[in-house]
Amino acid sequence: MMQRREFFRWTGTAALMGAGISGGAAARALAAPGEISQPKPGAKLQLSSQLGVIPGKSLEEKLAKMKAWGFDAVELPGDAPGKVEQYRKAAADAGLKISAVCWGSAGGALVSDDAERRKEGIRMLKEALSAAGELQSTGVIYVPAFNGQTPLTNQEIRKVLLDIMPEIGEHAVNAKSRVLFEPLNRGEAYFLRQVADAAAICRDVNSPGVCVMGDFYHMYIEEPSDFAAFVAGGPWLHHVHLASRRRVLPGQDERSFIDGFRGLKWVGYQDYCSFECGCDGDREVEIPKSLAFLRDQWEKADLPG
Ligand code: MG
Repeated sequence: MMQRREFFRWTGTAALMGAGISGGAAARALAAPGEISQPKPGAKLQLSSQLGVIPGKSLEEKLAKMKAWGFDAVELPGDAPGKVEQYRKAAADAGLKISAVCWGSAGGALVSDDAERRKEGIRMLKEALSAAGELQSTGVIYVPAFNGQTPLTNQEIRKVLLDIMPEIGEHAVNAKSRVLFEPLNRGEAYFLRQVADAAAICRDVNSPGVCVMGDFYHMYIEEPSDFAAFVAGGPWLHHVHLASRRRVLPGQDERSFIDGFRGLKWVGYQDYCSFECGCDGDREVEIPKSLAFLRDQWEKADLPG
């Protein structure tokens, strides 16, 4: 019987994987949960911001202000591929690193139902990865599709990503960069809402050039636990967006960052936490207050034991 034969084929493969005989993707995928069951030492809070919320008339003025306020890095917008030298020089002159390049979805091109649009999307993402590598940033923030950008179902989008991401990941590794999947809340994207779901895609793609980030604003809506979200994302987590519940500065409403920071400490987080938010009130006063609030939340985020 066909069903019976398929059953035996499946159990045979499972037995090989369990015995550690098959190498490569399957063996690595099975190993991942073990990597995150123990805390890793050495986590650091390194602060960054997108340019929009920073006051100043020019790029240079904004960066100088950020340095004076104690930021470690700046997060660049999606126009970075055409302005690599300008951004590289401005950040270096200000004494700031570049955290990530916030690129987006290219209108959902990579998961379009049109093969030509997919090809063009892949070309554009590769170009952004090359720029992000030249800028020594941690990676390119990528959203597969905002709501309404593709007629494909969630199941179909995931399959397309597993098809196209190995090659994009290889390009990213060669460019010394990585794709950073950004999960969003359901109001913006039904596909990819939780950090663990993005991490499971990374586990299946199995490329060091394909990783995840978490955004405290979206996480407040979608995650039952900030700690659990970051722990699940741990081996693949390379960027974090900071915003309060109302998407203003951290500290400007009741949103706590302690549980999430505990998760970052658990996974030994080495990358940046970056403002992606608005501001209530005078930015000159409120931004330094928010930085102090975040450093205090980090101190309060003790790991048990
Ligand atoms: Mg975000």
